[in-house]
Amino acid sequence: MTQTLHIIGGGMAGSEAAWQAANMGVQVVIHEMRPKVETFAHRTGHLAEMVCSNSFRSDDDEQNAVGLLHWEMRAANGLIMATADKHRLPAGGALAVDRDPFAASVTEALKAHQNISVDYGEISELPNEGHWIIATGPLTSTALGAAIQEETGADRLAFFDAIAPIIYADSIDMDIAWLQSRYDKGDTEEERKAYLNCPMTKDEYEAFIDALLAADKTEFHEGETAGYFDGCLPIEVMAERGRETLRFGPMKPVGLTNAHKPDDKPYAVVQLRRDNAMGTLLNIVGFQTKMKYGAQTDVLKMIPGLENASFARLGGIHRNTFINSPTLLDNQMRLKSKPNIRFAGQVTGVEGYVESAAMGLLAGRLAAAEILGTHMTTAPLNTAMGALVHHITGGAEAKTFQPMNVNFGLFQPVDGLKGGRRGRKDRYKAYTDRAKAEWQSWLALQA
Ligand SMILES: Cc1cc2nc3c(=O)[nH]c(=O)nc-3n(C[C@H](O)[C@H](O)[C@H](O)COP(=O)(O)OP(=O)(O)OC[C@H]3O[C@@H](n4cnc5c(N)ncnc54)[C@H](O)[C@@H]3O)c2cc1C
Repeated sequence: MTQTLHIIGGGMAGSEAAWQAANMGVQVVIHEMRPKVETFAHRTGHLAEMVCSNSFRSDDDEQNAVGLLHWEMRAANGLIMATADKHRLPAGGALAVDRDPFAASVTEALKAHQNISVDYGEISELPNEGHWIIATGPLTSTALGAAIQEETGADRLAFFDAIAPIIYADSIDMDIAWLQSRYDKGDTEEERKAYLNCPMTKDEYEAFIDALLAADKTEFHEGETAGYFDGCLPIEVMAERGRETLRFGPMKPVGLTNAHKPDDKPYAVVQLRRDNAMGTLLNIVGFQTKMKYGAQTDVLKMIPGLENASFARLGGIHRNTFINSPTLLDNQMRLKSKPNIRFAGQVTGVEGYVESAAMGLLAGRLAAAEILGTHMTTAPLNTAMGALVHHITGGAEAKTFQPMNVNFGLFQPVDGLKGGRRGRKDRYKAYTDRAKAEWQSWLALQA
């Protein structure tokens, strides 16, 4: 019993975790509730079902962070990537996948593995002993969600994400924006300059509200409910409540002086705040939104200072169960209060098929190493895998933690390279070259 790895959830993360651990010689049981217990989004009883789009996004491993993650997973003999490659559909530079044959192939490969068995049924309580990985995804069953909440505390498990857009700091026009906390609050210079402010005139504000009201919005999926609270209303819903609502909410202009034009009183101010410890990513405070992605970039680029903004991720509100990983998990992805349990996949606060599978890959290897009695360090910080796991287990701001895609804003800068838009190509190539070398070395340690 104690030497078997039990994985709850056979989705992207659970499937990859099982494959990795089994290949290291560990016995694995996957506990999957479907098809006995269904979710509103899954349609089949297959493992690794893609619930919505059939895309693994960019496959460019030199200039794109998710493409780099593909590369790292392929180099680590990842089942999800190998199967996606086998069922690839034409999609330009993206990796699109023929979803049903993909999921059927993953299921078949796992069931055919001599070290893996699949036990169909819901797990509704947290196990007290043995080695476990919880990879139950954004639609974790209600009973297990309640058990996790009981263990971690009510405010450490979210049932919806409310994502404000995240912007690369170096794409903001600092001739327009300035750094200042409202009323210069804070004990240190860093705290007094914790916010980046973008000012609006009355005309700019009115035009912004018009665009917001007219923008295309995403509907909730069937079975999702608009269960968000007043504390995280989408900006367009606030605007619908009255044209001045935002000016008295997240865009209030009080306690701030425009550093570039001290005599001009802004009519409204959009504030951005650090989203990671390095300060390379900033989120727009209070700007969770259900605007469609195209409309969202058009509307947000109307904000003075953000005309040329690059978005690390766009905003959204979805049904999504995830834990506050920065406070709850150690860097081995173990629950600090019950270290016999690891978490992996979307439930850890990463976002997307690829990121979820990647976290499964890492958790599977770490758990197997522990069972085999060999110490394995977590993924190196300068790899895509490492940047992502570091973000969720410590790099992200715990108080405002929301799900994250892999992106270059999570990477440590490479010394001596030009910042901003013009240096981007060389910078990204340097990140990906460095990541590939470090990933290969990490893999070699385990060979
Ligand atoms: C409606 C919706 C649309 C989405 N669209 C996209 C998209 O287009 N692109 C994208 O990249 N990502 C999308 N996502 C996010 C997507 O779900 C994740 O990227 C990915 O599937 C997460 O992988 P995972 O392994 O963490 O979870 P999942 O793939 O969801 O796997 C979790 C598994 O755990 C099982 N499970 C849950 N609770 C229990 C339990 N108590 N006992 C046993 N089994 C259990 C579930 O049945 C499921 O099979 C979407 C999510 C939702 C909800």
